Amino acid sequence: MIANETVSSYLSRLASNAPTPGGGAVGALHVAHGAALISMVAKFTVGERFEHVQNQIEPLIIQSEQLIEEALLIADQDEYLFNDLIQAYRLPRDTQEQKAYRLQVIQAATKTATIPQIRTVKLSERILQSADTLVLIGNKSVISDVAAAAESAKAALATALVTLEININSIEEKPTKSELIDYAKLAEKLIQFADTITGKVRQKLKPQPNNDGQLNSTLSGKPVAEKLKTTIQHQVAVLAQQDVTACLAVILATDNEATIWYVNSIKKAAQSQGIKCEVYTLHNPSEEALKTLILELNQNTAVHGIILQTPLPKNININHLINLIDKNKDIDGANPLSLGYLSAGQKAFAPATARAVMEILDYYDIPLAGEEVTVIGRSNVVGKPLTQLLLKHNATVTLCHSHTQNLSQRTKAAKIVVVAVGQINLLKDSHITTDSIVIDVGTNIDENGRLVGDVAPEVAEIAHALTPVPGGVGTVTTTLLLLHTVEAAMSLSNANVLNVA
Ligand code: NAP
Repeated sequence: MIANETVSSYLSRLASNAPTPGGGAVGALHVAHGAALISMVAKFTVGERFEHVQNQIEPLIIQSEQLIEEALLIADQDEYLFNDLIQAYRLPRDTQEQKAYRLQVIQAATKTATIPQIRTVKLSERILQSADTLVLIGNKSVISDVAAAAESAKAALATALVTLEININSIEEKPTKSELIDYAKLAEKLIQFADTITGKVRQKLKPQPNNDGQLNSTLSGKPVAEKLKTTIQHQVAVLAQQDVTACLAVILATDNEATIWYVNSIKKAAQSQGIKCEVYTLHNPSEEALKTLILELNQNTAVHGIILQTPLPKNININHLINLIDKNKDIDGANPLSLGYLSAGQKAFAPATARAVMEILDYYDIPLAGEEVTVIGRSNVVGKPLTQLLLKHNATVTLCHSHTQNLSQRTKAAKIVVVAVGQINLLKDSHITTDSIVIDVGTNIDENGRLVGDVAPEVAEIAHALTPVPGGVGTVTTTLLLLHTVEAAMSLSNANVLNVA
């Protein structure tokens, strides 16, 4: 049995001038390769991110294992049926009777020898159907192997097709001939199907051109936020079953119009997701008044998340206040304790902006393990917690700040560059390469009153990918404040330990 042979022994038998194994067995083994690749991709499509497709993934794994077994049996079947055919051709043909008998046996053996080819076509069809499903739902990191599976099936089909065509010519029996013609046509159609699947995979791996025909490597925050909203909706429904409504308290102690607008936008977003948002507006409060409010909110069991919105009046020392926010309600990671827990690799809420960067990288399947990442800006709300999250995902991180020398050398050495400074045009084309993936955290108002990031416009033409401003990190940040609130509500209402990454 080929299944029990070593690869090198099988290959030397194949390379010899013995008649078997031959093309038929090779075709069947192409099927086995395809099925194994399908199984492998399906097994990579597991875990929390793929929970919603598990009912499609599990049957694919079971089916692929069966296909591998069947394909190996076909390879053996092809060998012995071809041997029968050879024996038929070796029959004596000295007399008319012998000739007639020999012809009859050859016809019968030829007919049976087509069985492995027909089975190869049928199995290849099943592999291509699985591959077509995996292009849509499979883990993108291994999606190229779906194309490899489709190409294996295509090779199997091409091999079977050639043999079928030979046999169509030599078989005289009409029903068999027409059955073989049908399978040959099916094989041709499936070869085209395989090309379509490979095309879909290649398309998926390519940056998409936009309407101007330019490379669209924009890492929009919108779909990331939409995906997170699905999780929020699910958790809001779970909380509703326990009669809990997640509630976010925002302390607002400024007349700054932009800040008031921002807080109102959080409130609107919260309400649209079924989350309560209470804004505590204080005009010129004392530090004591703010302390009292924070301590009250810590005690209030109906409140699950607390944000102390900046800026605060000049006479207030923010450090005296953020230290008071209950760690379990610190949904924007403001309390230095949260940063401490993150640094120690323990569970705590990261500032929403830092997590937003991580969610964007995850959504666009940008691998981090072993990759160089340069972060510009070392604030407690972005640079430092983000560094911790990146380290947790095994990236090698360089954290830069206003005293960093040779910034462009450090940014060019990294695959991913995150800019969180608050200076228009800080990151220029001289800082990046065509392979750079740039995450722009900065929010600035330019001379025309428009919201812009820290990245100069020309970077978009060079970088491999870039988050837009607006519509990038900020979009995801707001949604994460809400997700953190429901996560806090889940752990507080279940009296659980903090259940966040
Ligand atoms: P921050 O506290 O002012 O920190 C700025 C950081 O940039 C500091 O670490 C500073 O270094 C560094 N820096 C300043 N000039 C530099 C230079 N020339 N080269 C390299 N590094 C330099 O600011 P932040 O609160 O982290 O915010 C940063 C930006 O992100 C702002 O535009 C802010 O509006 C934006 N932001 C956006 C969101 C969002 O959701 N999109 C959320 C939060 C913040 P030193 O430490 O040496 O001073």
